[in-house]
Amino acid sequence: MSELKLNSLYQQLILEHYRSPKNRGKLDDATVSIRMRNPTCGDDITLQLRVDDDEVIQDVRFYGEGCSISQASASIMTTLLKERSLDDAIQIAARFTALMHGDEDAAKDRSLRDLRALQGVSKFPVRIKCALLGFDALQEAVRKTRGEPALEA
Ligand code: ZN
Repeated sequence: MSELKLNSLYQQLILEHYRSPKNRGKLDDATVSIRMRNPTCGDDITLQLRVDDDEVIQDVRFYGEGCSISQASASIMTTLLKERSLDDAIQIAARFTALMHGDEDAAKDRSLRDLRALQGVSKFPVRIKCALLGFDALQEAVRKTRGEPALEA
């Protein structure tokens, strides 16, 4: 990611999540598992959730490979999902997607917490897909859990 000039503090946080991802691995008792790929960059993420009958996310894991942006984004995302409802998860995904598309309100949204470290990525259109890959998987996981049809990529 040498072409990316992000705020150095933010860059450090991204590298930390890339080197030591949170919630990385597999869930034995996942209720939903979604694999998403970004062929442009070679990113490949599988997201697994365990969702209870009340639509609360009890546990979350992800695995895969790819660039630092895709892996760090997925790692940070998982830290925000435990004990959250599927509605909350969709809301976070929508806010982060808005942030990646340059929405200034989203940039001030504290509920995005460490995800705001990725704000600088919005200036690099080819990398936005990297940052959104985990969130695309999350939205697909919610749709699948609710029995809604998958969106065409
Ligand atoms: Zn990537």
